[in-house]
Amino acid sequence: MSTTATAAPFRFFDSRVVRTRRLGPSTIRITFGGDSLAGFAAGGRDQRFKLFLPHPHQYSPVIPTDAGEDWFARWRAMDPAVRAVMRSYTVREQRRDPGELDVDFALHGDGGPASRWAARAVPGDPVVLLGPVEPDNGGVDFRPPPGTDWVLLTGDETALPAVAGILAWLPVTARARVWIEVPHAADVQDLPTRAEAEITWLVREDAHAETIVDAVRAAAFPPGAPYAWIAGEAGGVRALRRHLVGERGFDRRAVTFTGYWRRGVTEEDLLAEAVAGTAAADD
Ligand SMILES: Cc1cc2nc3c(=O)[nH]c(=O)nc-3n(C[C@H](O)[C@H](O)[C@H](O)COP(=O)(O)OP(=O)(O)OC[C@H]3O[C@@H](n4cnc5c(N)ncnc54)[C@H](O)[C@@H]3O)c2cc1C
Repeated sequence: MSTTATAAPFRFFDSRVVRTRRLGPSTIRITFGGDSLAGFAAGGRDQRFKLFLPHPHQYSPVIPTDAGEDWFARWRAMDPAVRAVMRSYTVREQRRDPGELDVDFALHGDGGPASRWAARAVPGDPVVLLGPVEPDNGGVDFRPPPGTDWVLLTGDETALPAVAGILAWLPVTARARVWIEVPHAADVQDLPTRAEAEITWLVREDAHAETIVDAVRAAAFPPGAPYAWIAGEAGGVRALRRHLVGERGFDRRAVTFTGYWRRGVTEEDLLAEAVAGTAAADD
């Protein structure tokens, strides 16, 4: 159960909303389609991609797709009120004939342009995706090292699509301990897997709800070499990584951790921090 990292190229894909389906109080599944998706090659697991959305006053997203390698510099130089809103999402599932991608959006109100857009999306709405053209690509982070005996997965509602993708990908020989935090009991989903997986749901609306950090702290782990994949709100992810490496003795190279969002900060601002080199250091 090991794979090696590659940095395969991504390219832009024009796409449209085909249908939407409410999965629960906090999540909407948006299915994207279009002929160009024939070239989209998701690698499963936590396959991420960039989604470009129009502003409310626009019909379609504005991106310098003709700028080749320079697209990012050109996009950044544009007026933020005009250039497309760029956000990170996960491929929940890719299907062929017809080519379709499911993406599960956590709804957190109108404060975020992507959440706002998703809540109002209707069939035909145009979007642009920046995604992989090869299944083994640099947008897949779940990569257990050789010799892994069991995997620890944690995520909130934004990382639930990735956790679902990882569980669907794990082989029958894999052993997984999983903690997922969601806002409401009705957000709990069925997560098919061939692996021997023990899944714990933590529901925030419950009066005595535990956080993921508390629940993992209290857990007894299986024997053998672990590999941890943790994602969700950045503060919780950092605290959990500290616990695993500092108090549980996990090899830091066997912990893949990603802040999927940070409380009070937009993805636009996180990107600006990363570009300026001022992102919070992860010890
Ligand atoms: C690799 C990767 C994969 C991701 N995959 C998914 C995915 O499949 N599905 C998904 O829903 N999200 C996913 N996310 C998270 C998503 O990109 C962020 O939640 C993003 O900030 C949403 O954009 P927005 O325009 O709605 O909000 P922003 O404009 O970025 O933020 C506006 C405000 O909302 C807050 N905020 C952002 N997200 C949330 C939230 N979930 N709950 C409460 N407050 C929030 C911010 O802190 C900020 O204060 C992923 C992130 C990464 C890095």
